[in-house]
Amino acid sequence: MNSRDLDAEVVAAGIHRIPVPTPFAVGRVNSYLIEDEPLTLVDAGPNSGTSLEVLSQGVEALGHSLEELELLVISHQHIDHLGLIGLVAARSGAEVAALDVLAPFAQQYSEQADADDRFATRVMLTNGIPGDVVSALQSVSRAFRAWGARADVTRILHEGEAIRFANRSLTVHHRPGHSPTDTIFHDADRRMLLAADHLLPHISSNPLITRPTDGSDDRPHALEIYMDSMRRTRGMDLDIVLPGHGEPFTDHAQLIDKRFELHKRRAEKLYGLIAQKPRTAYELAQALWGNIAVTQAYLTLSEVLGHTDLLHTAGRVAEMEDGGVVRFRAT
Ligand SMILES: [Zn+2]
Repeated sequence: MNSRDLDAEVVAAGIHRIPVPTPFAVGRVNSYLIEDEPLTLVDAGPNSGTSLEVLSQGVEALGHSLEELELLVISHQHIDHLGLIGLVAARSGAEVAALDVLAPFAQQYSEQADADDRFATRVMLTNGIPGDVVSALQSVSRAFRAWGARADVTRILHEGEAIRFANRSLTVHHRPGHSPTDTIFHDADRRMLLAADHLLPHISSNPLITRPTDGSDDRPHALEIYMDSMRRTRGMDLDIVLPGHGEPFTDHAQLIDKRFELHKRRAEKLYGLIAQKPRTAYELAQALWGNIAVTQAYLTLSEVLGHTDLLHTAGRVAEMEDGGVVRFRAT
């Protein structure tokens, strides 16, 4: 098959990708301008002068301005996506739409981020991360806090509902896993999906262990939740997927199958380590990734716990708690 120019096909559909810089390892984040009525922006980038400048120039290069925007849509709770929403809403007077479970996070950003940090601290200490590493990570998290900001949500979205435009309709679906509030937007007529970070072309979306939105304090099985979400997306009739980072892609089912293979392999590798001797999630992360388990402790911890959850559900490992710290052993 001749290689397709997916960007051109997306533009022909009236959707423009504006990659906005972020201070995070992931690199630029995609903001999407939808030229329709209402004139819409999906995600806006992190809260910084540079990001605002690039976003504003990107919109102007397309013959519009931030002031003209009529609708802002937020894909999920991560600050590289929602940080500028409040500011752009103030400038434009645009409506701000977000899924029901996401709205409280956007509206009470500081309180919610505080609660997330407390939750993360507890999960890290329970899973064997040393106190000094936990303190260092707390400082990093606080330093990043200002890249997010609160936003008033004026339009609450619900699972299965459609956002109607003059020339298209986007169906809203909740796909938790990467975060508890991941939302995707499906144009069934064009077989296009705005997927945000639910599916990324070059990197496996990390199923971050995040405080549940239902107010409970239990650690969610983020990878299992994510795999359920991916199964639902796999069954969708899609041509082009527009991700939150990187370029548009096709063959979403193939990508999802690859992700499932990766998780299966990683679970087996972890099982091998646990079968040698009982270990904490932190020890498992160190055995797999060495020093990255220290500098990226929460990310790697989330990755390990996702897979020990799979093994636990399969009845292959058990958790033992001793002095408030959890170790995994083979059954
Ligand atoms: Zn992101």
